[in-house]
Amino acid sequence: MLNKVIYFIGKHMINSINQINKSNSEFLYSNYNQRQFNVLNQDLSAPEQLKISNFKKEILPAGYFQSVAFVGSSINLLKKQPDVHCMYCNVLMLSENQQRDFISEVKHAKGKALINGLNKYKERLPKTEKKICDLLITTAENHPNCELNNLLEELIKEKGNKFLQIEAPNFDKHKKILDEIVKKAEHLTGQAKIQTDESIKNLKNSFIQRDEHALFAREKFIQEIGKYIRIEKKLQKANRKKQNTNRENLNYLETIKNKALKLPSIGTYSNFLSNVDDFIINYAGKSNKRIAQRLIRPIISSIDHVKPRKLKGEDTAANTGLACVKCNMEKNYKTLFEFIKEKPQIVHNPQNFIDNVIELIINNKFKQLYSYPAEFRETVKKESGITLNISRMEEFLKTKQKS
Ligand SMILES: [Zn+2]
Repeated sequence: MLNKVIYFIGKHMINSINQINKSNSEFLYSNYNQRQFNVLNQDLSAPEQLKISNFKKEILPAGYFQSVAFVGSSINLLKKQPDVHCMYCNVLMLSENQQRDFISEVKHAKGKALINGLNKYKERLPKTEKKICDLLITTAENHPNCELNNLLEELIKEKGNKFLQIEAPNFDKHKKILDEIVKKAEHLTGQAKIQTDESIKNLKNSFIQRDEHALFAREKFIQEIGKYIRIEKKLQKANRKKQNTNRENLNYLETIKNKALKLPSIGTYSNFLSNVDDFIINYAGKSNKRIAQRLIRPIISSIDHVKPRKLKGEDTAANTGLACVKCNMEKNYKTLFEFIKEKPQIVHNPQNFIDNVIELIINNKFKQLYSYPAEFRETVKKESGITLNISRMEEFLKTKQKS
């Protein structure tokens, strides 16, 4: 099973990420996202995290996925090639350049141009992303002057009522908790009070108005209180004289956070929202670039270790191949044997991948990669028992030697 953790950024947004093992450079995210991850990790209890993680199994991270970069490694040559097959699912993957071109194509596009852009890789996408593209295309037909982010806002408007209906039943209970939070905040002093009051105001507004983002206001609030707690802790360290005030502030902030955790969470609604709805809520309000990136991320080409690094797999070309981000994350720390056992349908794809790669090596005369197919074959044999056929490469090398 995938270990997934969700984290919340800014207004009304959740993202799920594969649990990051900090020592695993294969899953390096940008500092920004790493930081967000830490924030959430601190702010949510284990059952909370589990609840949320069950909610969002199929949503990939918002952060840039950076597969490990072997500086100067020959495998990077392959990663730059457009339309290489994923070694696990066989999907035609996008190179970084293709990703960049796609983003610049759709970033400021509207109407027909946007529809054309969205259609470009739609058929290659996993079903959730494909459905979202279809929805965006239909909406773009009706709103020819909308860019991506406006289209999501339109979809939220259409679906808004559905989200609000879910919210309705426990509203009185929410109000009681909100009142308790307000009472506790009255005891705060200094900057902590000013900031907390502001956060409470936003939280209350969202809950009372039951606007389309109400479900997410709690997450944002908890994140903010967590931030104030960390600031108080820092102050406490820096200024020992004021320790008592800080300590009181800290106690109140902790109580406020615990109370907020009793507010209904996104997890409560997990049975009501589909992944598509989830995507719409998460990405409405994000930049066009982020939305475009997220749409095609599952099929971006990434370097995957056949034998996971966690299991002492080596950082060598021989132990690596190219997998789409989705498969890379799904395989995670599994051995190839385990992964194939879990998904028997992928069994022939390492062969398809190496056929594809041999073609590329021969056509482009990638001398650095002449030994790669044989090495890869050996790794796959060791890790899964499957013997790949690389006769085309062997023949090519023989004729090379002769000439
Ligand atoms: Zn794949």
